[in-house]
Amino acid sequence: MTEEKKDLPYLAYSTWLKAHYGQKVYKIPINTGASCPNRDGMLGYGGCIFCGAYGGSDESLSPTLSIKDQLKKNKAYIGKRYHVSAFIPFFQNYSNTYCTLKELQSNLVQCVDAVDTVGISIATRPDCVTDQQLEMLSNMQQQYKIDICLELGLQTSNYKTLRILQRHHGLGDYIDAAIRIKEKGLMLCTHTILDLPWDERTDVKETASIISAVSSDFVKCHSLYIEKGTKLAQLYQDGKIQLLELQEYIERAILFLSFLSPDIAVQRIIGRAPKKDSIVTNWNTSWWKVRDNLIDEMLKRKIWQGKGYSANKNRLIEKLS
Ligand code: SF4
Repeated sequence: MTEEKKDLPYLAYSTWLKAHYGQKVYKIPINTGASCPNRDGMLGYGGCIFCGAYGGSDESLSPTLSIKDQLKKNKAYIGKRYHVSAFIPFFQNYSNTYCTLKELQSNLVQCVDAVDTVGISIATRPDCVTDQQLEMLSNMQQQYKIDICLELGLQTSNYKTLRILQRHHGLGDYIDAAIRIKEKGLMLCTHTILDLPWDERTDVKETASIISAVSSDFVKCHSLYIEKGTKLAQLYQDGKIQLLELQEYIERAILFLSFLSPDIAVQRIIGRAPKKDSIVTNWNTSWWKVRDNLIDEMLKRKIWQGKGYSANKNRLIEKLS
């Protein structure tokens, strides 16, 4: 089964892209060699317990290549492979707004002069988003007539779990950044890990409700994979954590989607783990098999994105009538 299946029980990003831009669009990774305050000592050393050497993804090219060269190479490869001619450069690794206003602007300007750039996506932490940056991004969005999206790692709404993950930010930081991003007319994508062993299903439901309440435009859901050399790997090897089963991931993903606003497009319902650098990845199953399994379950149980979200909104008042 692919995302093109007509009766998909959630709003897939590919569907949203085609409806919004009238054509196929691909995100292409850009690596600037950005840093993160949770790694360089500003907030902590070594990063979040799950964060590996690449700070988010191993799909990117080397940061020693200029942004223009990365764009050129990736566009040529992806354009030919997927027959696509519209792109969203994605500043993916580490925290890409953890820099001066001038540096951020200079990185982005290198992407916007190409006619095939329809948007820009910028991955960062919720506590690394200033009003000045948002003002500049909002101006840039209008000037170049592109969509600019901030991608915030939230991971979970449970502040106790955030502490265990050593995120060094709270739920409030996410809500604050999300509101300011939306107020400036920018887009928001929220990243979450659905099978954190310290979370209960209620936390997953709460995360979906909060992401919906701040009107995030997109979500990316991940499973908890364990990269070599991380603090999480150490915990796992010492037998200090027990990972959840695949079926529990499916249950949590169904619950999450049910309580997610139907307007939010799902960029990923399970991550693509970097296999060669990981100890544990997606239960040794392909990400698309997990996704297909999830879709089949949702169709079988007659659950769709937003079913619980809508029911929850109306439930008390309906009882009065
Ligand atoms: S905030 Fe992001 S880049 Fe920084 S340590 Fe955590 S996961 Fe890695």
